[in-house]
Amino acid sequence: MAIERTLSIIKPDATKRNLTGKINAKFEDAGLRIVAQKRIQLTMEQAGKFYEVHKERPFYGELCEFMASGPVVVQVLEGEGAIAKNREVMGATNPADAAAGTIRAEFAESVGENSVHGSDAAETAAVEIAYFFSGLELVG
Ligand code: ADP
Repeated sequence: MAIERTLSIIKPDATKRNLTGKINAKFEDAGLRIVAQKRIQLTMEQAGKFYEVHKERPFYGELCEFMASGPVVVQVLEGEGAIAKNREVMGATNPADAAAGTIRAEFAESVGENSVHGSDAAETAAVEIAYFFSGLELVG
């Protein structure tokens, strides 16, 4: 399988509870390498643009408010099949459906406040990485 890069976000519910290190350990234990990382505070506008694909969904406003409600850690994860592997480590969107041992099963508070974001395909990963990082910031 090819080496891929994917965008991950540790969401405000997790940064608030000081879970960055525990979540990063899950990525590293799964063989994902953190090749870029920064802690930032999104504005409503920046969160809205990032989640533009969900604009028509009923939870869009709530989602943007949540993502702008506190610091997030944006990061690029690299590894073999990193996009699918990260989705596996994250677990299902709704923590009630997430497999045991996944980040969302262990840490998520609800379907909305679910601790992590991960790109869902190669094309979205490229766009999402470029939204937060320049090439110079990616150090493999
Ligand atoms: P995922 O993050 O697992 O790829 P989606 O792309 O479907 O999931 O949704 C993006 C984000 O929107 C979710 O991670 C979650 O924070 C939020 N979300 C999804 N469904 C709901 C919902 N029914 N109510 C509130 N927020 C939701």
